[in-house]
Order: sequence, then structure tokens, then C-alpha cells
Amino acid sequence: MEIRTMLLGQFLVISLALNAGLLYRDYCNGKHKSQDFFFFNNGFKNASLAAKRDAHVAKRTPFETKAPSRSLGEVIDLDHGDPTMYEKYWRRMGDKTTVMIPGWKFISYFSDVRSLCWFLEPEFADAVTRLHKLVGNAVTEDRHIVVGTGSTQLFQAVLYAISPPDASEPISVVSAAPFYSSYPLITDFLKSGLYKWAGDAREFKKDKPYIELVTSPNNPDGVSREAVVNKNQGILIHDLAYYWPQYTPISSRADHDIMLFTVSKSTGHAGTRLGWALIRDQEIAKKMKEFIVLSTIGVSKESQIRAAKILQVVADSHERRGNFKEGEAFFEHSYNLMAKRWKQLRDAVEKNELFTLPDFSRGTCAFSRRAFASQPAFAWLKCEGEVEDCESFLRHHKIITRSGKHFGESTNYVRISVLPRDEVFDEFTQRLSSITSS
Ligand code: PMP
Repeated sequence: MEIRTMLLGQFLVISLALNAGLLYRDYCNGKHKSQDFFFFNNGFKNASLAAKRDAHVAKRTPFETKAPSRSLGEVIDLDHGDPTMYEKYWRRMGDKTTVMIPGWKFISYFSDVRSLCWFLEPEFADAVTRLHKLVGNAVTEDRHIVVGTGSTQLFQAVLYAISPPDASEPISVVSAAPFYSSYPLITDFLKSGLYKWAGDAREFKKDKPYIELVTSPNNPDGVSREAVVNKNQGILIHDLAYYWPQYTPISSRADHDIMLFTVSKSTGHAGTRLGWALIRDQEIAKKMKEFIVLSTIGVSKESQIRAAKILQVVADSHERRGNFKEGEAFFEHSYNLMAKRWKQLRDAVEKNELFTLPDFSRGTCAFSRRAFASQPAFAWLKCEGEVEDCESFLRHHKIITRSGKHFGESTNYVRISVLPRDEVFDEFTQRLSSITSS
């Protein structure tokens, strides 16, 4: 008996070691690079910086926090756009956003059986409409709201909904480079017979139907965009994940047929996994609903209620200012934070002739009435001079970024998240300014 237990124990140790070895090998081979989503190894490193910070924060009131002593030499992971920058603000809001859900609630699959999207919680739909009306960034009148598990699910639902069902070949899906690195991966993941990734929209020459993804402001380079393929057989999907006033001036209410939004980048609640689509055409909305029903039979109601609460607090912070302190209006606060970060980043880049950043022209924001240049959630950094592989170069300096090649661009570029926690961003800018070519 004892021998059997010992052997079992040894077996477990060996299998754990093997798994760790495999994970490490994947890490070294760069396999993690294929996804925008997770790269836990270095996430843990950032988490260790954060854990030190959290221990420190616990003793102070939120916002009084100071970065703990810098752990120079630690790996800084800015590969994916994890929006932890927002955590501090939401801590400060305290119980204003706390949601209590008793055990008897949300037993049913259904939210509103009379609605086209019957798993959409009316509270969430109301909050979405209120927020768009406040910000003025999208038309909600005569639109169907379809809720999804992140805008990632909505993207797949919309591809399914707009692809011709009986075509002799899959419809081409294009986006102008540099494009969001997940688009080609998600599009071709299941080798659908309905649609197929066809690359850079600027290179698309076929005289056939196509789907063009227009991301504005764009991930990775922050540019405000319009469709580039100028043909009449195209269907456009507008991904407006970043069309919020902390990132870019709101020029007008977006009024497209298919618009995708997400709480991940608007309020920073990526873990809630919630997105919404504003759809003009009822048949498209119905087919999207069908996709979501067949893949997940709807969307978590707990997530929708939590997101509804958060969106309502965002709107309250602007419309019921009496209940909030000075500087607590959400978009004002997050605008100031982004402005500070971009100044810090540009100062660091200016000090170092190895790197450059794109410039953005100023525009007046219809929401804040402020004139400013875009301050995107990602920095599209270029390595100048001799360095050809910017990602490897920065990795050598323990800064993890994503190479331009994943976005259909050259390896001279990398995408860097501007949304990590304060102490990670501070350490990053400090390290960037001191990097030399040798
Ligand atoms: N679209 C764009 C342009 C994005 O950058 C992201 C997040 N990286 C998404 C969609 C996905 O958002 P979600 O977390 O809602 O799935």
C-alpha cells in the first residue's frame, strides 16, 4: 500500500514537471504569441508587481497609493491590452458599484421573451442606451441591441450573420493593415465554409463580395479610420471598442449598420466578458442571436447586471455630479489619466532616438468640448536605425510587446499596452528612456 502511494506520488511529481516543461517550451517557442488573450507567465510577473502594490494599498485609502519600491529588472508584460489601469478608479468608487445577487435570481435562461434578443437583460439595454446618449458616440434609435460574451463573441456572431449561406466559396474578410491581430485568428479558427480571412484590405482586388472590418480608433495604431475598399459588394463591420472620449475626440454619433462595443475598453471591465452590438437590420440581429443561442444559449445575466450597474455609475458620475467628488466623473478622470500616460511615454521616447511614436492631429470632442489629439489604449512604437526586430530587442530588455508582424505590418513596429497598472507603466517608461542600442 505504502509503495503504491509512493509510486503514485512520484508519478504526480514527474507529470507536473513535464507539464511545466511543456509550458516553458511553448513560452520559449513564442507559441503564446498567436493570441491576443492570455500569456500567463509574464502576466504573473506583472501580477507580482501588482501584489506588492496591493499589500501596500490595503493600508491606505484608494488614490493615496504610491508605487512600491521599483523592482528593476523584472519582466514587464505589455503584450495584451489588459485594462488594469482602471482598477484604481473603481476601487475609489467603493460600494457605488457593488451588486448583490440572491441565489434565487437568474435561474431562467430567459430575460425578456418578447424581445428579439431574449437573453438581453432590459437593465443592461437601458444602461447602454443611456451611456450612448450621454457620450454621443453612437446612434441607438432604430437599432437592435445584441449582447455577447465580449465583443469577441459578437464578432463571430456577425461574421456568421452576414456571410452568404449558399455561396460557392467562403466570403473574403479583410481589414486595412495594421489590423487587430485577433481578426485573422478568430476568422480562420474553425475553418468555416462561410468566410475566410483575406488579409490587408488595401490589397483586396477581387471583384467579389467581401466583409471589411473597420476599427476606429484602430488597434494597434490608434488611427481614426474609414473603410478603404471602395467597391459596392462590401459589408462593413465597425469595431468601435475604443470610440470613447478618454481615447479620442468624439467627432460625431457613429451611425453605421453594424457597430460593436465592449465594456473591456470603455470602463475597463474585461473580466466581465461583455460586449454589445448595435444593429440596424433586423434579420442580421436575428441571425446573430441565433449564433449566440447555438454557441452559449445566451449570455451570463450576472455579468449583464454588473455591467449595467457600472455603466449607470459612469453616467451618474457625469449627470449627478453632486453624488461624486471633484475629478470623479469617469470620462474626465480616465481622459486625464490617458493624457498623463501619453505625456510620460512621449517624454521617454523623445529622450531616446532609438524609438518613435505616431503623431495624431487634434480634434474637438463633442462630448467634453475639449480639443485634443488621440491618446490611444495602445502605443504603436517603431524601432529606428539598425534594429529590425523591435519585439526581440525589447524582450532583451525584459519588456514584452507584440511584433508588428502579427498586425500585418513590419517587425520594426511593436504594439504596447498603455493600460497596465501605474507602477508597471512607470517602470516601463523609465526603462524605455534608458535603453541603449548596445
Ligand atoms: N475589438 C478590438 C479592436 C479589441 O482591441 C478588442 C480587445 N482587445 C476586442 C475587440 C475584444 O474585446 P472583448 O474583450 O469584448 O472580447
